[in-house]
Amino acid sequence: MPEIDLTQATNFDLWKHSYAARAENLAVSEVRALFSVVSRPEVVSLAGGMPDVSALDGDLIEKAFQSMMATRGNYALQYGGGQGDPRLREQIQEIMALEGVHGSVEDIMITTGSQHALELISDLFLDQGDVVLVEAPSYVGAVGIFRHKEAHIEHVFTDDQGISPEALREAAERLIETGHKVKMLYLVPNFANPSGVTLTAERRVEVLKICRELGILIVEDNPYGQLYFGQEPPKAIRSLDDQGVVYLGSFSKIFSPGLRVGYVLAPPAIREKLVLANESAILSPATFAQMLVSEYLAISDWQGQIATYRDLYKTKRDAALSAVQQYLPKVHTTRPDGGFFLWLTLPEGLNSKDMLPLAVTELVAYTPGTAFYGDGRGANNIRVCFSHPTAENVAVGIKRLSNVINQQIELNETFGSGS
Ligand code: PMP
Repeated sequence: MPEIDLTQATNFDLWKHSYAARAENLAVSEVRALFSVVSRPEVVSLAGGMPDVSALDGDLIEKAFQSMMATRGNYALQYGGGQGDPRLREQIQEIMALEGVHGSVEDIMITTGSQHALELISDLFLDQGDVVLVEAPSYVGAVGIFRHKEAHIEHVFTDDQGISPEALREAAERLIETGHKVKMLYLVPNFANPSGVTLTAERRVEVLKICRELGILIVEDNPYGQLYFGQEPPKAIRSLDDQGVVYLGSFSKIFSPGLRVGYVLAPPAIREKLVLANESAILSPATFAQMLVSEYLAISDWQGQIATYRDLYKTKRDAALSAVQQYLPKVHTTRPDGGFFLWLTLPEGLNSKDMLPLAVTELVAYTPGTAFYGDGRGANNIRVCFSHPTAENVAVGIKRLSNVINQQIELNETFGSGS
């Protein structure tokens, strides 16, 4: 070990010489630094993808807690099994059935949020340089994990009907032909984060066909499927294939993210490995949180709560879309039928990351588009999350955002994109 000069050391680099090489990929984004400002009450944050938990019934959760302690308190306070609470896994079967997904209790595993499931799956499948196919753009938390695993992230052309099957086949075949191991396709088919786009039923069938043909595992991540504003989205891809799809779900968006309870349904062989990986990482998922979720499901009208969330987010989506229409006439937006997000495309030449400090001085924050790509794209995109602020504040936030964007557009038009 080299001698450490403590006079030179900072909190951050003291052990730099000891990190694993892959820790390089855990760098804090510049954007994160600005987010400390975002928690100030005067700033409208359209940044973090947070549910509006103020719509939950606190009394009911207290009741679930008391009932859990009275009936299963000793179990809730104890270690549990690595696969998760059997009663909760049965209840999850009922939730998954809403999306056409049917699977054995034996093949469900509880995780610490679906983020943890993604980490375990990635660790199980990805060696350095392996290819993960993803939408363009893709979920920032997944991109972060794939990067940490030193995978090659290949974004596949995606439009307002979801990922393009033609582009998927082209990318997969090209990469396979050039000797790459294409390990998985990671998708958020319903009301995607960050685009808000939903994959059509026809494309689901085509995507599945391509992946089967080329031996590519599909990881279907579906935290938003129940948060539809009109029609239900098409049935899950997993409803069409129980061997080629690993399906992820979460209580974060239909109940509460603070409990950190998610789940994965996998073909038996993969599930077995995932349980071993789960035990190796955390021994058992948090018993207390699982049992609280289970009790909540048992005593509440949880489907009614989801309907409440739907109405609430629909109102906020409407506020967001009409504010974009009113204040940002030169900006293209997706028009999501559910979920939390709008994806804005600014005129070419504008840089949303550079604009963020200006936006913060206008008391609004957002996530720049580059966060959702592993290859530097997205400079002229912005993710707007409308789920957390009130509908009024969503509109206020977008109006503030327009002060910055419209000024940049004007400068761009006057002086060109070099300005
Ligand atoms: N997948 C997607 C697409 C998400 O948007 C999120 C949360 N923002 C997650 C997974 C992780 O959710 P959690 O770990 O809270 O279940």
